[in-house]
Amino acid sequence: ASRFWQPIMNLGNIFNNFINNMAYLERIFEAMDEPVTVDDAPDAVEMKKMVGEVTFDHVSFSYEKGKEILHDVSFSVKPGESIALVGPTGAGKSTIVSLISRFYNVDSGRILIDGQDISKVTLHSLRSQMGIMLQDSFIFSGTIGDNIRYGKLDATEADIRKASRAVCAHDFIKVMPKGYNTEVKERGALLSQGQKQLLSFARTLLADPAILVLDEATSSIDVQTEKALQRGLDTMLEGRTSFIIAHRLSTVTKCDKIMYIDNGGITECGSHDELMARKGAYYHLFTAQMEGMEAV
Ligand code: ADP
Repeated sequence: ASRFWQPIMNLGNIFNNFINNMAYLERIFEAMDEPVTVDDAPDAVEMKKMVGEVTFDHVSFSYEKGKEILHDVSFSVKPGESIALVGPTGAGKSTIVSLISRFYNVDSGRILIDGQDISKVTLHSLRSQMGIMLQDSFIFSGTIGDNIRYGKLDATEADIRKASRAVCAHDFIKVMPKGYNTEVKERGALLSQGQKQLLSFARTLLADPAILVLDEATSSIDVQTEKALQRGLDTMLEGRTSFIIAHRLSTVTKCDKIMYIDNGGITECGSHDELMARKGAYYHLFTAQMEGMEAV
């Protein structure tokens, strides 16, 4: 048996990182009840260490035969860029982000990360280098510290505190009955939606992925947590390629690029100022939301 394990043990930390992140991701996939629809190709290779360039090359996709959701979508994102996906419900924003983590295979076209076709690499080497944060932040039974540590199982207490401070989670944790040792239950009944998000920010910062996929929570959050979330998000986005299904205008306007998704594709793409000047769909969405906010 030791002969079998030796080469793996020689991979040392790299392998440990994969295992750690995978354990966390696997629990997420279990909790999501996501049917397994993709597998490694028989000749799949390990994804190299990601830099974070993402390209959609004429991608078409449907969940069911004959009902195309994305049609011939092409775009390219540079390492470190943040992209906000906006547009009507059901347009395909979640579909786009789920394809980047290869929850599904595309019908035609290719998705490339740093020039590597993601259908040709192992799922494990792909997903372990990505941060995936869905609307409902996953909280596991255990302490608050444990929940953050899922991002990097060998993180020290000091690492955990540092990450929490960086994303503005420390303030609420330190006033909990037992601080980082406070027990939380699966799904985190004790925590508010915003606090759960802050925990998952800290967890993601520890994992330090090159690519971040984030579905921003829609629920209303108290002003103080909202501010912490905004600052935490800024810290998290630094130096990573990020795709955000953004629900807050403050997030949208800050992103490097905005993609307006409608009718199976990207109908508008540019910075906030560019899209506002264009006075198209994004402009109308933005002004309507601004008016909505003023009315509140
Ligand atoms: P958005 O995120 O922009 O609201 P989605 O990507 O969630 O849009 O959905 C795009 C379309 O795909 C919708 O018509 C939706 O009903 C459909 N869809 C989403 N997920 C599935 C699924 N798992 N199976 C079948 N159809 C789906």
